[in-house]
Amino acid sequence: MTLSTPLIIGAGPVGMAAATFLSQDGIVPRIVDKRAERSKFSKALAINPRTLELLEESGITDQLLGLGRKIHGTTFHRNDKIIAEIDFNDLEHRFPFMLALSQATTERVLSEHLARKGIEIERQLELVESPALIQGKANLVHSETQSHLQIDAPWILAADGAHSVARKSVHVPFAGDTYERAWVLDDIPLASDFAPDRAHIKLLDDGFLFLLPIYTGEEKPGEPTVWRVMGNYPEPLAQLTESNLIGESLWNSSFHIAHRVVESMSVGQVYFAGDAAHLHSPVGARGMNLGIEDAWVFAELAKRDELKLYDQQRWPVDNAVVQRIRTITDFAKGESWMRRTIRNVMLPRVMRWKSIRENMLKTLTGLDHPLPLMQKKAASESAAADEKPRKRRRD
Ligand SMILES: Cc1cc2nc3c(=O)[nH]c(=O)nc-3n(C[C@H](O)[C@H](O)[C@H](O)COP(=O)(O)OP(=O)(O)OC[C@H]3O[C@@H](n4cnc5c(N)ncnc54)[C@H](O)[C@@H]3O)c2cc1C
Repeated sequence: MTLSTPLIIGAGPVGMAAATFLSQDGIVPRIVDKRAERSKFSKALAINPRTLELLEESGITDQLLGLGRKIHGTTFHRNDKIIAEIDFNDLEHRFPFMLALSQATTERVLSEHLARKGIEIERQLELVESPALIQGKANLVHSETQSHLQIDAPWILAADGAHSVARKSVHVPFAGDTYERAWVLDDIPLASDFAPDRAHIKLLDDGFLFLLPIYTGEEKPGEPTVWRVMGNYPEPLAQLTESNLIGESLWNSSFHIAHRVVESMSVGQVYFAGDAAHLHSPVGARGMNLGIEDAWVFAELAKRDELKLYDQQRWPVDNAVVQRIRTITDFAKGESWMRRTIRNVMLPRVMRWKSIRENMLKTLTGLDHPLPLMQKKAASESAAADEKPRKRRRD
């Protein structure tokens, strides 16, 4: 057995964000990942205002802003007409936009930040079935040498993704369901009249298409814009009547959407964050962002020695977001006659109501719930700042 340092399983965006937030608070964790290198897939394409706010203190937000492009709203189309729009500029927030940036770039920025802070991601170390994980004892195997290692940690943050071995090791149910119809995505260069600073949703007869430009921070002038085209059709590209394909697909994937939440965000010494704890459709761009928020709350509570409050703080938020995204997705995909009719007829009308537009705006930008710990932190920081000049004056 080695070490009594806290352990993070999984160096995806959520595990790396957790290591970032914890180290900011003076807690230096060990972080392991089974992969030999970072994922190169574009996956999550949009960073929301809440995530930008949470990563600001580390300096990462400034870097992300320098690489990504601002997305100012979402436009809904039907029969080649715009039927509704949501504008992120209406948001009362210091970052009133979504930031389009490929998840591969976001992960690069996070890992480079950790390296600068002296936190090394221990790669090719895989968590395997660990009967005593609940007590903080993790069994790991090195994929190349096949050597075994047992780590005894005061707590373990399981950020090991949708198929979490940690979750299975401690037998925490992951209730929910999976849609039957596969969704398909293509990342492909397009010539299109769609505004590149907006997300676009095309409502089709028995489905939908989602389009958003992909930015990596390495775009060269004059290069065609690469778009994510995603929908609940076997061939979403065939539904693109207004755009021309001008290159090969860079990534094509077919996947089944699930909506699931862990029964509890913690058990014994093990805590869950990110996809290990919750899954939902990419509609609303919440997956990675919600996981980074889990990581921030976890780090704040760890710093205050209040990890016992983690489940109480996170489960209701994560569960509510998953259920809300599920409802929106069920309407967006329009597979049942009734939902499709409500979607096509009602959407343009209800979007004229300010309260509905504001609710949609907050859900799409991740600001649909408060973060009480953030308000507390801001209050204590401003009290500390007020304290200093007073002391100086007395001196
Ligand atoms: C097509 C697609 C589109 C998406 N679009 C969006 C979007 O627009 N916005 C958004 O916010 N989200 C989106 N998501 C979701 C987003 O990609 C995930 O929510 C995000 O990657 C979750 O991060 P994570 O760190 O929790 O898990 P992961 O990214 O899955 O990372 C888990 C890490 O754990 C490691 N690991 C796994 N098992 C073990 C083990 N046993 N031992 C050691 N290491 C292990 C893995 O190698 C991996 O590095 C999308 C996902 C997909 C697939």
